[in-house]
Amino acid sequence: MMGTPQLTKNQSLVMGALAHSDGPMSAYTILDKLRDHGFRAPLQVYRALDKLLEYGLVHRLESLNAFVACTCPQDHDHEHGVTAFTICEGCGQVTEFHDEAIEQRLSTLVRAQSFKTEKTTIEIRGHCKSCA
Ligand SMILES: [Zn+2]
Ligand SMILES: [Zn+2]
Repeated sequence: MMGTPQLTKNQSLVMGALAHSDGPMSAYTILDKLRDHGFRAPLQVYRALDKLLEYGLVHRLESLNAFVACTCPQDHDHEHGVTAFTICEGCGQVTEFHDEAIEQRLSTLVRAQSFKTEKTTIEIRGHCKSCA
């Protein structure tokens, strides 16, 4: 993805809701936040999320069935590669990080199996410093 994609009104609203949220949000939470902006159906949220995921502006946390705004430096000229998250089960804090050593190791293992990766997300559940 080169540069900042042109977002539709609905995509910008969903992006804004996620960017201003303290933690991950489910599609239904997003829908509730955006009802005043004319959102009526989950499908409207899902459509916007699909595009934002495609642009790499948003990540999906599979274990929470929720979404977070990408917090890595917003020059999305690079491939996302392996995205890792720590997820606090106490306060819900989510931190995104990328590590080249993990990325290289995993891609070597995967390539050895002639497997074609679409995306890799590592979710580490536990407790943050303040909740431990
Ligand atoms: Zn990211
Ligand atoms: Zn915590």
